Amino acid sequence: MNNGFVSLIGAGPGDPGLITVRGRQRLQVCQAVVYDSLASEQLLSEVGQDCRKIDVGKRAGRHSMKQEEISRLLVELGREGLAVARLKGGDPFVFGRGGEEIEALSQAGIPYEVIPGVTSAVAVPEAAGIPVTHRGVSRSFHVITGHTRGEEGGLPPEFDRLAGLSGTLVFLMGLGSLPGIVSGLLEAGRETSLPVAVIEKGTLPGQRTVRGCLRDIVEKVERAGLRTPAVIVAGETAGMDLSCHQGLPLAGVSVGITGTSSFRERLGGLLESLGAAVSCAGSMEVRSFVKKDRIQRVYQNLGKYTILVFTSANGVRLFFRGLLEAGKDFRAVGHMRLSAVGRGTAGELKRLGFLADLVPQTYRTRELARLLAGEAGPEDFLLIPRARGGSPELAEILRQSKVAFDDVILYDVMGSEETGREKKELRLDYLTFASASGVEAFFDQKGDAAPELLSGLRTVCIGDVTAGALEGHGRAVDVMAREHTVRGIAEAMINDRWEQARPNTVPGGK
Ligand code: SAH
Repeated sequence: MNNGFVSLIGAGPGDPGLITVRGRQRLQVCQAVVYDSLASEQLLSEVGQDCRKIDVGKRAGRHSMKQEEISRLLVELGREGLAVARLKGGDPFVFGRGGEEIEALSQAGIPYEVIPGVTSAVAVPEAAGIPVTHRGVSRSFHVITGHTRGEEGGLPPEFDRLAGLSGTLVFLMGLGSLPGIVSGLLEAGRETSLPVAVIEKGTLPGQRTVRGCLRDIVEKVERAGLRTPAVIVAGETAGMDLSCHQGLPLAGVSVGITGTSSFRERLGGLLESLGAAVSCAGSMEVRSFVKKDRIQRVYQNLGKYTILVFTSANGVRLFFRGLLEAGKDFRAVGHMRLSAVGRGTAGELKRLGFLADLVPQTYRTRELARLLAGEAGPEDFLLIPRARGGSPELAEILRQSKVAFDDVILYDVMGSEETGREKKELRLDYLTFASASGVEAFFDQKGDAAPELLSGLRTVCIGDVTAGALEGHGRAVDVMAREHTVRGIAEAMINDRWEQARPNTVPGGK
């Protein structure tokens, strides 16, 4: 039986927090996602590891797929029996050509559903503090395309009549036709003082608003160099500004977050509620190898090891979870001494009820290796379950010191697939790191671009282990979270803002 099913999902105007609960749920369980240029990185990182990601939008050097091709693709994926998420910006039925896709699916007999989205026609003006209706000011709003097919991308033929309407006029896809829209409105007898606002990248970090009136808006928009996507609002309410960001401690601060999607969501949500503009600066996922034969053999032979060495909190978590899954309990390591690379890792052991016996004074793999080399005798056999790509120094020093050990790859922290559309042009004030393996994955993912990405911003680390990893790459840590939690990170950033804003204080002075 073919279970193919297509969900046409409104992704909202850009901010990944503005998708509906149902839309997000479908993304998390789909087997293929079909998206275009405006889809957010964070939403795409919600999908499962095995989900097929298909970009049908405009990309550098490549044209977007034609609408008929997209419809055909959806039908094919449905016929393959997949649960397909078709992600569309805003609401699928507002200039989204969602209707055509539905017609194709319906003709092919593929079941589908449509999940509404927050349309940019309302949400983008709103993000700039402009209400599309307001008591006593505007009793209706009209959403108009600034780019029709047929007449070389011109305004719709009924534009004359629309121009005379007293409600708020909202133009989508209209930036290129702004001069035509303005002259059309003037020809329809609208005052030169009629307020007009143009909002670029609404709800996204880097959102910009240019305000003016029919007389000067074209020139102002040109001067500001606004680009698509942009919404144009003309009418009395376009002169209003109900936005409020003053008073929030991280207002105007732009933060890049690295980490797994669940972590980014937790930290991002908190920072946003404090006024920060948050973006994904590197997505990572932890892939566990505990089911692999090598680890399973290790679990069955724990008796031969005498010292168990952990180099990360992730390692601790995955090792003990895997142990239980292998049908053993924690007594299986009761005969061993425990070693942890630093406080974070030792803390994770403590949470599980273990006190680490061997922890180096300073977090450095080299220090750990030296400590172990000094402590291990000829009768010892070390087990080191750790991440792939961990420092080779540990193994080298142990080998040189003739210490017997097994170095097993327990997991991998990988930069998850990038679609190359992260907001590279965005200037970040802060960049956060939440784990040493996250730091490694960042440098791995960004390669030669890493130093430049890290210049001119302040780095934030959750603890000394993470900080050590960053310093290992030659980059100093600017802000340290005292508490190893998302709230700790937020507080450290707020304190740092205060410090930065304060005029120079004399050390030790009052
Ligand atoms: N279905 C979408 C609209 C698709 S047409 C919706 O309901 O929002 C694409 C147009 O939407 C763009 O040309 C632009 O005018 C507008 N748009 C979408 N996202 C936007 C954003 N974040 N900021 C400004 N305009 C946006």
